[in-house]
Amino acid sequence: MRTIAVTPIHVADLAIEGERMPVHVHLIDHPGGRVLVDTGMTEIHPALSDFVTRVLPLDARDLDLASVDVVVNTHLHADHCGGNHLFAGIPVHVQRQELEDARSEEEYTIREWVDPPGVRYVPVDGELELLPGLRLLPAPGHTRGSQIVVIEGGPRPVVIAGDTAVWFGELDDPGTEGQRLIRSLDPERVWLAHTDDPWEPGTGR
Ligand SMILES: [Zn+2]
Repeated sequence: MRTIAVTPIHVADLAIEGERMPVHVHLIDHPGGRVLVDTGMTEIHPALSDFVTRVLPLDARDLDLASVDVVVNTHLHADHCGGNHLFAGIPVHVQRQELEDARSEEEYTIREWVDPPGVRYVPVDGELELLPGLRLLPAPGHTRGSQIVVIEGGPRPVVIAGDTAVWFGELDDPGTEGQRLIRSLDPERVWLAHTDDPWEPGTGR
């Protein structure tokens, strides 16, 4: 029996070349605490109005925000950190490289969404066991500071990939260090931010 549960939450829709691209965050219920992976968006920023068709903010849902003990950002692109402001005072784990890039590179993200008042980052250098059986692993590719979340406790791990793979083909035929890392873990299931269903090996999805 797996004691660590993952629940996807649909938080926005993007339109990319006429196609709907959903945005999901993932809630992990671990015996040691509740972990939220990425925070979506809570508004449509003018700079993104060409791409964002709908937001379903986390603070307008039946999720009790106060029940979240820890936040993880897979990376700091706008569609992954736009709800960080809802979690002021709660530790937000992100790779140090990612935080530095988001704070310094032009047109990387929506800068004010990265550092709203009260948000407290815990910069991570490489691998970290956040809770027993729940690890953060650097997974460069989509951004050089991207990380994935790996959940043990079953015969094979479950992965929350952020945008390390944006669509299934990138795991069927991995091309980046991060994608190859995911495949090397021989996961049972991989949750992506921008697909409705998880990727599972050998299902041909
Ligand atoms: Zn994304």
